[in-house]
Amino acid sequence: MQCLLGATLIDGTGTPPLRDAAVLVDGERIVAVGTRQTLQLPSQTTVIDVSGYTLLPGLIDGHDHLAAHSYALAHRWGLDEPYSTRSLRTAAALRQTLETGYTTVRDAAGLDVGFKLAIEEGLIMGPRVQLSVNIISPTGGIGDRVSPSGHECCVVLDPTLPVGVANGVHEVRMVVRSMVRAGAEVIKCATTGGASGRPGHGPKDVAFSRDEMRALVDEAHALGRRVMCHALGGPGLRLAIEAGVDSIEHGCYLDEEPELIAMMAAHGTFFVPTFTVYTFHRERPVPHIQARARALQPHHVASLQQAVAAGVKIVAGTDAGGHQHGINAWELEHLVAAGLSPMQALQSATCWAAECLGWSDDLGTVTPGKLADLVVLDGDPLQDVTLLQDAQRIKLVFKGGMLCVDRRTAKREEHALV
Ligand SMILES: [Zn+2]
Repeated sequence: MQCLLGATLIDGTGTPPLRDAAVLVDGERIVAVGTRQTLQLPSQTTVIDVSGYTLLPGLIDGHDHLAAHSYALAHRWGLDEPYSTRSLRTAAALRQTLETGYTTVRDAAGLDVGFKLAIEEGLIMGPRVQLSVNIISPTGGIGDRVSPSGHECCVVLDPTLPVGVANGVHEVRMVVRSMVRAGAEVIKCATTGGASGRPGHGPKDVAFSRDEMRALVDEAHALGRRVMCHALGGPGLRLAIEAGVDSIEHGCYLDEEPELIAMMAAHGTFFVPTFTVYTFHRERPVPHIQARARALQPHHVASLQQAVAAGVKIVAGTDAGGHQHGINAWELEHLVAAGLSPMQALQSATCWAAECLGWSDDLGTVTPGKLADLVVLDGDPLQDVTLLQDAQRIKLVFKGGMLCVDRRTAKREEHALV
């Protein structure tokens, strides 16, 4: 057994920090949590002195694209470099993400099952991943790979990433099944457009009919998969919520229809606002993207504040990939700037995120019985949540009880009690 001793524990549940904490780990799981004074350590326990640091649950990003590395069309279509280089680039992003304290990531399309297998086999370092494989949308939707000149994607289909275009109830059910066959643990779909300048593709343009979305949610749930839905605003946002999706991704214009926020609270629908990606869109050198990102910002902030007030659980997600990897904790700064308390921001990346993924039996809090996914931080994130963005302050990262990162310069007391 090993015991992390002496840190200030923020356990992810939202309860106040526990000083001089003792967290006992047996194999891959946490078996006891107390203080130095109260916890009896079994003999042969290896004590890791983490006094002066903050101990947190492993962080979770609820919306990431780990296999994406640029927004450029040539990259998105896989034309700009050999597949091997691209795969190794993804492996580097996976390692970097784990090394910055993110022990779990829900991939919102693009990461294929091979990466998950490679992590589980120990071939590469990376967080636990929950895969959606590819995004499902109708012809003309955000998952339809068409160039601005109207040409369809010229690249041969990669069978690990099935085509996500589906029209009509029958095809929608079939494509959900093909995603599950390819390893999807959550179904990703889109009921609105987004940042693209294609016709009929704006943030409030609807994709999918009511029947199609009901079939999609029904099929996913029948197969034991939750549904995460890209929906910015307008009738497509309503369609997603009424069809019973499990999380709304982006949700920038929720504030325009408070009734929808009440429905989300009543149904337990999670809200993953992904503020980080829009900070990049606001600066991108494409005028219509900039304009859209700037126009939605005040609505996005109001949407968050109204959702929190209504009791909707917020999940931190960066929508990273197109812009960058490795600063997933930036989202927490954005969430605090938009109105969450630092403690709520931490919950959005720990316990609420684990609930959103359906993995809260194992992850999200430092409590007995959970997997020992732990982060030791130099500093107090409740005073300054941006500290989590500084990789050098992430001193230790454990995934399932295994030490994956150790940035302590001087090793301190570490011994077996006899
Ligand atoms: Zn995304």
